[in-house]
Amino acid sequence: MINSSLKQFGELLQTKKISSVELTQTFLNRITQHNPSINAYIALDEAKTLAQARVADTRIAAGNAAPLTGIPIAQKDIFCAMGWKTTCGSKMLANFVAPYDAHVITQFDNAGAVNLGKTNMDEFAMGSSNETSYFGGVKNPWSFDRVPGGSSGGSAAAVAARLCAAATGTDTGGSIRQPASLCGFTGLKPTYGVVSRFGMIAFASSLDQAGPMAKSAEDCALMMNVMAGFDERDSTSLNREKEDYTRNLNLPLQGLKIGLPKEFFAEGLDAGVGKIIEAAIAEYKKLGATIIDISLPNTSLSIPVYYVLAPAEASSNLSRYDGVRYGHRAAEYTDLMDMYNKSRAEGFGAEVKRRILIGTYVLSAGYYDAYYLKAQQIRRLIAQDFVEAFKKCDVIMGPAAPSTAFKAGEKVDDPVAMYLQDIYTISTNLAGLPGMSVPAGFSDGLPVGLQIIGNYFDEARMLNVAHQYQQVTDWHTAMPELALSKEVK
Ligand code: GLN
Repeated sequence: MINSSLKQFGELLQTKKISSVELTQTFLNRITQHNPSINAYIALDEAKTLAQARVADTRIAAGNAAPLTGIPIAQKDIFCAMGWKTTCGSKMLANFVAPYDAHVITQFDNAGAVNLGKTNMDEFAMGSSNETSYFGGVKNPWSFDRVPGGSSGGSAAAVAARLCAAATGTDTGGSIRQPASLCGFTGLKPTYGVVSRFGMIAFASSLDQAGPMAKSAEDCALMMNVMAGFDERDSTSLNREKEDYTRNLNLPLQGLKIGLPKEFFAEGLDAGVGKIIEAAIAEYKKLGATIIDISLPNTSLSIPVYYVLAPAEASSNLSRYDGVRYGHRAAEYTDLMDMYNKSRAEGFGAEVKRRILIGTYVLSAGYYDAYYLKAQQIRRLIAQDFVEAFKKCDVIMGPAAPSTAFKAGEKVDDPVAMYLQDIYTISTNLAGLPGMSVPAGFSDGLPVGLQIIGNYFDEARMLNVAHQYQQVTDWHTAMPELALSKEVK
């Protein structure tokens, strides 16, 4: 039952084969059993969660259930949820209880979904392995000595280990797609502006975007129907007509033009991952797609550009944590400046400090033109590469991550090696484009994700492209042994 799709869960609930309280309790029991070893959840509140499930059951009984009513969803701890501890993986916010709901949380509430708990993440969403979390690392359910990816590592492990029906994540440079690839499930980063950032703790505001992390494309489409939509409280939220993201799922792929950027298959790509991506492309040819060779010439600049712009925005966004308005305050200090210094020195971890230092540096008067302005110019060129590419193809495909899940501790002392995890995902954030990762097989027993990049607002087509693949393959239904076993060693 735990491997059911969101649609199947909905049917079980609406035909009263199971109540939301029962379904929620099933997941809570699984969390009690497995979370101590995986560390996917960092805040749980059974009473709150079950109260929501009871409300959902009343709504179902009254006959006005929505597709996700009564379904238990895990929320990344970057979303403010009223009355819930909301830490963003940081000591800085370790005791912060949100006084209001993020837009995404409100949308799930309105849909009648049940909030199962808050999931672990890299501190302030900075990382690719979930190892920068103040609350400790997360284990990859496929292999406990490996990382789940990041920054949405807790949501990723929760989806893979079936400790929730689905989860939310955020993706600033790859944090939905890279963990989806490393943990073997389907994750979608929407077009920038499609999901409101209101109440989502800011990292790099021009890049941050929330999206679904779920078993299948169909599940992601149902999640998108809840998450997407205009919100006047986010100045970058786009006022577009509401769409049904499931509407194209069943269209055939005959005639689909898939662009393969040569830069995504060059040096740096693990050979085992490359083979699986090639096999997935072959599957698409069988489904009637045509392959077109394309080039995204500025791909190699995306990481350096991102690591100027994201830290610049982060240094500004994180200046609000001063020990006065939010979060941690040092116990002892001599004067105001000393209190700021000590509070920030104690509250932030090493990676966050590194980004604040870099960001402050590139924005400083003497270096702004040389770094920040230059990076903004190259960002435009990167976006232009995609505009040219989409003149030739409907979607772009390639790997989501350069390797399978790596060992915990392997890259923590080498930030640049860690940054390279996002080489195939970051350019879409810089361009504001939507991207997803879809399970495409296993290399040495570890999951590999196929990345699908779409044109602006083409989520429904990408979901169609992913769904058709999932009709002829079953990688997305594979579960790690732990998800099936009764006990965790
Ligand atoms: N790994 C990237 C970083 O550390 C992206 C993180 C993200 O998407 N939130 O910035």
